[in-house]
Parts: sequence; C-alpha cells; structure tokens
Amino acid sequence: MNVLLIEPTKLYQQIVHEMLGNTGIKVDATSTGCKGFQLIKKNGYDFILVSKNLPDMTGIEFAQQVNNINNYFYSNSLVMLTADDINISLKEAQQAGYIEILPKDNFESLYNGLLQLAGQINRNKASKVLYIEDTKSVAQLTIALMEKIGLSVDHFLNGEQAMQSFDGNDYDLVISDIFIEGKLTGADIVEAIRKSGSKKSRTPILAISGQGDTDMRINVLRKGANDFITKPIQHEEFCARINNLIALKKLFDQVDEQQKKLFDLAMTDQLTGLYNRHSLTEMAPKYISDAKRHRFELSLLVIDLDHFKNINDSYGHATGDVVLSEIGRLLNQACRKEDFAARFGGEEFVMLLSHCNANHALEKAELIRQQVEALMPAEIKITASIGVASTGQDHNMKFNTLFEEADKAVYQAKHSGRNQVQHAKSNVAA
Ligand code: GH3
Ligand code: MG
Ligand code: MG
Ligand code: MG
Repeated sequence: MNVLLIEPTKLYQQIVHEMLGNTGIKVDATSTGCKGFQLIKKNGYDFILVSKNLPDMTGIEFAQQVNNINNYFYSNSLVMLTADDINISLKEAQQAGYIEILPKDNFESLYNGLLQLAGQINRNKASKVLYIEDTKSVAQLTIALMEKIGLSVDHFLNGEQAMQSFDGNDYDLVISDIFIEGKLTGADIVEAIRKSGSKKSRTPILAISGQGDTDMRINVLRKGANDFITKPIQHEEFCARINNLIALKKLFDQVDEQQKKLFDLAMTDQLTGLYNRHSLTEMAPKYISDAKRHRFELSLLVIDLDHFKNINDSYGHATGDVVLSEIGRLLNQACRKEDFAARFGGEEFVMLLSHCNANHALEKAELIRQQVEALMPAEIKITASIGVASTGQDHNMKFNTLFEEADKAVYQAKHSGRNQVQHAKSNVAA
C-alpha cells in the first residue's frame, strides 16, 4: 500500500515514516502542495495525508485543486492531519473532499487511525457493491463517494435488473433505496435476497429511506436489512455504515473459509491427499442410494500394496511414506469425476466407481495394477493386489456386502501370488 504524506516539517515526516515503517505501508513524503501534485501525477497512491497548513496553500485549497489533476483518481483518498480541534475542522474538510481527519499531536490516535484506514482501504479494494437507486443525481454522487473509499460499484435503476446481477455476481454489500422504479420495492429486494437460499442470502444489506418513511423502514428491517440510512445522506455516516457492513461480510467469508478448511482436513488423508476412511463412511451411502435410484451398477476396488512391510524395513518409514503419497497421486489421477478414491488404512486403498459394471471395473483395476507396477516411486518396484466387487443388477446390495466381497477378492489375490486382480464373483471373466 502506497501513501503520500504532504507535510512541511522534516521531523514530522520522519515520525510518520517510522510509525508506519513495519506495517508494510510505503510512505512518500514531500513538503509542499505543489510538489505533492507533481508526485500524484507520476504515482498512484492509496491515500494521501495532507497537513492542514502547507507553505504554499491550505489543506482545503489542496483538496480543491487536486481534483483537476488528470490522473488523480477517486481511489486516492484524502486524509487531513491537524493539530487543531478536529471537530472544528471536520465539516470544512469533508466538504472539500477529505474522507478522514486525524490528530497530528496524538501519536497513538494517529497510528491507530492510519492502520484502521489502511485496513478499510485494503478491504474495500477487493469489495463489490450492488447499488439500486432510481434518482440519477443522487446515484451519481453516492457512487463517487463509494469509489472514493475504494469500492467498485454496480448501479441499477430498478430491482429486476439488480436481482439479475445479484444472481450472476458475488457482492459484499447491497445498498438499496426503498422506493425505486419498476415492480420490485426495496423491501422486495431484501426479501428476495434473504430467501435466495445460498450463501449469498447472507449478503449485508443497507437500505436507504426518505425521512418520513418510518413504516417502510421498519418493514425493510423486518425483512432482513442489516441497517438503514436516511436521505439526505450524511457522508461520514454513510461511509461508517458501509465499512461496518463490509467488515461483517469479510468476517462471514473468513468463517466460511475456516469451516471449509476444517471440513477438508477432517475428510482428507494428509499423506496421500485422497479422502480418508471417515469420508468413505460418509460418502458410501450416497453412492449406494444413487445407484439404486438411477439403477446403475456400482463397483468397488480394494487395493492393497504387496509386502509393504518389507519396504519400510528395507528403506525406512520415510521412504515408505513417499511411496504411499505417490500411489495416492496415481489413484487420484485414475479417478473420473464421478469416482471416489480413499485411503482406507495403512497401505490399503479403496475406489468406488459409479456407472461401472464388473467387466469395466476389472479393466480399470488391471490398468491400475499395471500403472502401480510401472510407477517406481522412490525408485522402488511396488506391486498391488486388487479385489473387485460389483453390485451387478442387485440394486439393494449394501455397501458392507460390496466391501466384504472386494476384501475377500484381495485375500484371494494375495493367496494366488499377489500383483494381480481378482473379482469376487467367479463367473466374471478376468
Ligand atoms: P501383504 O502383501 O500381505 O499386504 O503384506 P504387507 O506387508 O503389505 O501387509 P501388512 O499388513 O503386514 O503390513 C502393512 C505395513 O504397512 C505395515 C506398516 O508398517 C505399514 N504402514 C502402515 N501405515 C503406514 C504409513 O502411514 N507409512 C508407512 N511408511 N508405512 C505404513
Ligand atoms: Mg427512489
Ligand atoms: Mg499390504
Ligand atoms: Mg494391508
């Protein structure tokens, strides 16, 4: 993140430099407004800190003139630094286009304020807002304000188009006027979003109402809007509410992500990257019931590596692990989208093949056997015994039965000399 500091005294420039030194925020400093303009023309900044009083102009004049610079983008948020009473300077600063005003003489507040701002700007940079407002002049100003704090905004005049866009995109915030053109009202939009069923139904919603619309406001909150703001919009309040709601959305996203990670961790075997035994127990009933409902055949392979104990004894456990992990990769690659491969235990793997009859399963098992034999993981020749079982036309077969049959077939393969495929039913041509 790049910041421009326009501040007359070198000592204060140095203080800000050191303050932000280890935050990853890079500071360019200069002492006058004119030099500031030159830097802005050359570089892009995430925000610009401007002292209230500069040698060649005031901070207010700076803000008024900076808008005339060609490559001054709205995303260059202006922040005023002042040693004067903030409350006195605030209004004038906001009118001139500053999004924030921070105390020059209280280092702790300044530091915290800058970090918070950096956090918000970072968050907003990656955030998308769906905005519904049918009064074009209001929309224009509001969009400019949102873009100024780094947000990217999709704007619609009516609910129908907005909902289409909502379905096709991932938004971090929806902001809707309550009275809008078209058939859908703001309350209808809130209702539709909350009922949309997916994760998106939790998208934060900020409703915008006119001053007299108390009933409508209550209605829209009841339907599930998170917050509302009254027109005419007060800029600082608007930004504060937006920032809160986006922070909320990011928190939801984080929780989702962590949940997914935990789920993956619980379902995956860490060594091979395949599913683990627990997930096989979870998934198998679904495979069985799908096969029953749609009347397709299901086959199961149990793959047991031959004399694996010897590998560990001769090359060490760590090499044994490398072998298992490479076999895992091989099995993963052998999976079609509708197949399921798991590490069942130590050196034993299971593959569930849907839409796969006994003959196809045997072909597949034989191919896998050959691939294992040719793999040479850690430059060691590995072979596998594979047992195959299939439901055939028995659509009521239980998973346990299928598994026991495949397991028996492995046993048979071991007894018949290993490195081979056996099918549970002797009437299937191998
Ligand atoms: P068979 O051909 O009859 O299957 O003989 P085997 O040696 O493969 O079978 P056995 O069940 O006697 O031994 C399995 C070995 O797998 C014993 C165990 O040390 C090893 N093993 C199990 N889990 C792991 C693991 O995570 N890493 C390593 N390196 N070895 C493992
Ligand atoms: Mg309206
Ligand atoms: Mg074995
Ligand atoms: Mg075994």
